[in-house]
Amino acid sequence: MPDSPSIFARIIAREIPADIVFENERIIAITDINPQADVHLLVIPKHAYANITDLAAADPVLLAEVVSVAQQLANERAGGEYRLVFNTGASTGQTVFHVHGHVLGTQGRGRELQEGSLAL
Ligand code: AMP
Repeated sequence: MPDSPSIFARIIAREIPADIVFENERIIAITDINPQADVHLLVIPKHAYANITDLAAADPVLLAEVVSVAQQLANERAGGEYRLVFNTGASTGQTVFHVHGHVLGTQGRGRELQEGSLAL
């Protein structure tokens, strides 16, 4: 657990605003503030596991729920297809050490995500 609440913990607690696109008892999803694709959402377990490895070890059912929410949001916003990215460690670009999946997708033909980059 981090020493101080992460930015996502503060969003979950409604201490700072966010564009919330999904919420249930265990998960919240928001629009990324710095989008890297037509659709760029963050699916965030409310329990503050540091990364996907810790989440998978502690609560694999919750990880499966994260994937299910990602699919549901992609169905609603990206034609049912998506890339799901979990940066794990600072050298891979993780900046918030409260586990979150980046859901990346596009909206239409000619907008395919590129293989060699995170998104577009
Ligand atoms: P990562 O670099 O994998 O840790 O991802 C953190 C993500 O959180 C980045 O894509 C940021 O753009 C995003 N982010 C940071 N602060 C906010 C915020 N207040 N609301 C929405 N997204 C945020």
